[in-house]
Amino acid sequence: MLATRDDQSRPEWRDWAWQMRHRVRSAEGLAEFVDPVVDEVAAVAALADRFRFVITPYYASLMDPNDPECPIRRQVVPRGAELDDPAGLADPLDEIAHSPVKNVIRVYADRIAFCVNNECALYCRYCLRKRMVGDEDWTMRRRELETALAWIRETPSIRDVLLTGGDPLVFSDDKLAWLLGELRAIPHVEIVRLGTRLPVTLPFRVTPELCEMLAEHHPVWVNTHFNHPRELTAEAAEACDRLTRAGIPVGNQSVLLRGINDDTATMKALCEGLVRMRVRPYYCYQAQLLEGTGHFRVPIEDGMALFRGLRGRTSGFAIPLYVLDTPHGKVPLTHPHVRGREGDDVVVETFEGKLWREPNPL
Ligand code: SF4
Repeated sequence: MLATRDDQSRPEWRDWAWQMRHRVRSAEGLAEFVDPVVDEVAAVAALADRFRFVITPYYASLMDPNDPECPIRRQVVPRGAELDDPAGLADPLDEIAHSPVKNVIRVYADRIAFCVNNECALYCRYCLRKRMVGDEDWTMRRRELETALAWIRETPSIRDVLLTGGDPLVFSDDKLAWLLGELRAIPHVEIVRLGTRLPVTLPFRVTPELCEMLAEHHPVWVNTHFNHPRELTAEAAEACDRLTRAGIPVGNQSVLLRGINDDTATMKALCEGLVRMRVRPYYCYQAQLLEGTGHFRVPIEDGMALFRGLRGRTSGFAIPLYVLDTPHGKVPLTHPHVRGREGDDVVVETFEGKLWREPNPL
C-alpha cells in the first residue's frame, strides 16, 4: 500500500522500519505527497535505469505539494535537466583511482573513507556517489567489509576512519555494532566518524538504543547533511539532541545547490538553525562536476560572495568552510579575503569592505 500524507497521524509513522518499507518509489507514490508536474513524471520514468528514485514518507511530507521549485522537492525528485549535462563526469574526484582496496578511498595519509554499503534512506539527485549507491545486497557487502577491515588492520598509518556509503545508519544496530567493534579492536584506529543523512531524511532511525550502542564505541563523531532550513524540523532536532546527549559531536556538511540554498539569507537561516540544535556547520561543498547535476552547480565566485556575506553577520562558528573537493584533497574557497602582503603586513578585507593591516613578519 502506498504511503500518504495522512499517515503522519499513525503511530507507525515514527517507526523507522515502517518508513523504510513504505518509501515512495514511483510517480504514483509521489502523487500521494505532491501534485507532480509533467517534467517530474517524465523524469521518473526516463531516469529509472540511471539512478534510483526513492524518498522516505517523512522527507516526502516536507515537500511543498504545489511548488515544483520547493527546495526539499528539488533535492530528491528527478527532473529532465538531469539528462542534459554534457560536462558532467561519473567520478569527478577520481575515487576509483584512490581505492587501495574495494570500498576504501584514501586521499590523505592518516584517514580513509570506508564505503560500508550502497544504500541510503533516499537518493539525493546530486549525490556524488550516484555511480555506486542503490544496491541493497548485504551478503555480498559483508564479505567485502571483511576485506576492507583486513586492509585497515594491516595499515598502521590509518588513525581516522569515516564510515560512509551509502549511509551506515541504514544498517541494523547489530550490524553496525559488529562493524564498530571490529574497528575499535584495531589499536591504531583512534576515531570513527559516521557520515549519515538519516538525521535529515529519517530522523526516527536515531533511536535511544542506537545512541546507547554508538556511545559504547567512543570516540565516535557524526557528520550529517542538512541543506535547507526547512529540513530543521522538531523530529530532526530530537535526533541530533539524542546524538549529542550520547556524547557524539555532530557536524554538518552541506552542498551549495542552485535555487536551493545559494543565497545568503537561506544559508544564514540554515547555519543559525543548526547551531541552535548544537550541530556545528563544518563544510559547505561546491557541487562537483558530476554527471546529471549541471542545473545544481553555482559559479564559485557566487559561492565565495555568499560566504563573504555571512562573515561578521553571524557567529563565527556558525559559518562553515566553503570548500572545493578535488582528487588531491579539499581546497578552502576563501582567498579573496586576503588582498596580499606589503612588507611585514598582510592586508585583509573586513566584512565591511575596510582594509586591515595585520603585522605578520615573515
Ligand atoms: S544520502 Fe548521501 S550518499 Fe545517500 S544519496 Fe544522498 S548524498 Fe548520496
